[in-house]
Amino acid sequence: MHQTVENLLSIQSSIKSKLLELNERNKIPKIIAVSKTFKVDHILPLIEYGHLDYGENKVQEAIEKWTDIKKQNEKIKLHLIGKLQTNKVKFAVKIFDYIHSLDSEKLAKKIAEEQKKQDLRPKIFIQINLGEESQKSGIMKENLLDFYNFSKDLGLNIIGTMCIPPFEEDSLKFFSKMSELNKLINLTELSMGMSSDYLNAIEFNSTFLRIGSNIFGKRG
Ligand SMILES: *Cc1c(COP(=O)(O)O)cnc(C)c1O
Repeated sequence: MHQTVENLLSIQSSIKSKLLELNERNKIPKIIAVSKTFKVDHILPLIEYGHLDYGENKVQEAIEKWTDIKKQNEKIKLHLIGKLQTNKVKFAVKIFDYIHSLDSEKLAKKIAEEQKKQDLRPKIFIQINLGEESQKSGIMKENLLDFYNFSKDLGLNIIGTMCIPPFEEDSLKFFSKMSELNKLINLTELSMGMSSDYLNAIEFNSTFLRIGSNIFGKRG
C-alpha cells in the first residue's frame, strides 16, 4: 500500500477513536487531502484508492494538476483553500467545487458574476480573521452576520465558515469561537483543523479537515 494511503487510513482511525471518546460516532468529518506543491505522481495513489476531496491553494497550480484528472474522475471534489484574487475568479469558479476563502465584498461580487456566467455554483466558506491580525485575510467576527447576508443576497452558496488560527497560539480557543459563530448565522459546515490540530478541531464540530503534510509528507 502506498504511504499516502496508509497515512490517510491512520488519520481516519484516529478520527474514529476521537469520535468514540466524544460519543459522537456519527459526526464523521470530511478529510480534504491538501496536495499543494506535490506533483500529480505523488497524488495519484490516493486518487486510485478512491479518495475524493483534495485541496489546493493556488488557482494556476490547480488548473495544471487537476484539469485532466477531473475530466476522468467526475466524483473528485476540488477545494480552494488559499487566497483568491479577483482576476483569478473566472478560472477558480470553473475548476473548484468549494471555495474556502471568501474574504471581501469585492470578491463576493466577482464570484456572483462569474458563477452566473458559467452556470456553476461552488460551495463557499466565509473565511474569518479570528486572531484579528491585520496581515491575515478574513472577515472580522463583528461583521460576519452582515457579510453573510450580503453574500447570500448576491446568490452565493455559503455553507459555513473557515479559519486558520494564528500559528503561535493555542488553536482550541479559536475553534470554540468558530463553533459559536456558525450558530450565529445558522450554518453547520466548518472548515478548520490541519495536520497539527485536526483532532482538536473535531471537538468543536469541524466538518472539513484540511490535512496536507500528515498525508503527503513534508512540503519541499
Ligand atoms: C497548507 C494548508 C493546509 C494543510 O496544512 P498541513 O499542516 O500540511 O496539514 C491547511 N489549510 C490551509 C489554508 C493551508 O494553506
